[in-house]
Amino acid sequence: MPELPEVQTVVDDLKKAGLVGRVVHSVGVHWPRSVATPAVQRFRKGLRGAKIGGISRRGKFIVMDLAANGWLLIHLRMSGHLHLVPRRWPRATHEHVVIRFDDATDLRFHDPRKFGRLFWVADPGEILSKLGPEPLSRAFTGRRLAGMLAHHRRQLKPLLLDQRFIAGLGNIYVDEALWASRLHPETRSHEIDGDAARRLHRAIRRVLRSGLGNGGTSLSRGETTFTSVNGRAGRNRDALAVFRRTGQPCLRCRTPIERIIVGQRSTHICRHCQKE
Ligand SMILES: [Zn+2]
Repeated sequence: MPELPEVQTVVDDLKKAGLVGRVVHSVGVHWPRSVATPAVQRFRKGLRGAKIGGISRRGKFIVMDLAANGWLLIHLRMSGHLHLVPRRWPRATHEHVVIRFDDATDLRFHDPRKFGRLFWVADPGEILSKLGPEPLSRAFTGRRLAGMLAHHRRQLKPLLLDQRFIAGLGNIYVDEALWASRLHPETRSHEIDGDAARRLHRAIRRVLRSGLGNGGTSLSRGETTFTSVNGRAGRNRDALAVFRRTGQPCLRCRTPIERIIVGQRSTHICRHCQKE
């Protein structure tokens, strides 16, 4: 599932491709449930004539400012991809939403697993206001994270995955950040001292920046693998220390990496470096 670095990569690639300034000619919806809100007819009609004024990211959402025409939010979830292609290209399998622009190009939402969602809203706060802080923002300090952790009594792994706690983290970068900060994923958040919280804070930012610098993490060739606009793969896989490295030696101590389940999520740890 795309996380902060992958979603930011998509946003950057859409900007580079010149999406800002394009005007929507028409919208085709071929799998109605890809549109979360409003009803499909209103969605199609509402977007028609809208100009893409800006593209940004909040958490794992792609946020398009349509100026006077509201906001288009896209959540890629498990297998959503965006392709920017010439209109004359035939629609491929799994291209569930087609946003057609005035300049004869299409933005196509490709989503084999069908969990991704598009939202057309007047106020993006309707969707985004529930999200926790941006982990790369200046306001997100080590001290702030320490305070946030102290307010909860949850295991670190599910807490860090909770988008209301911090926005943008998912399974890959949480496992990487916990390994980097030598914290066990089942540790209760209120038991973390200030030093460990600052370590975790630094690790979260470091693993996210690595992902960003490498254009995201693409794991295998499966349909849920992340690719950015037009199928471009990320290069961060080689930078991963634990995620999907089960049985391979820990980069610090050579202990084989183990895969355990925490909060129903597959989790990768070094038992030696990350003590309970
Ligand atoms: Zn180790």
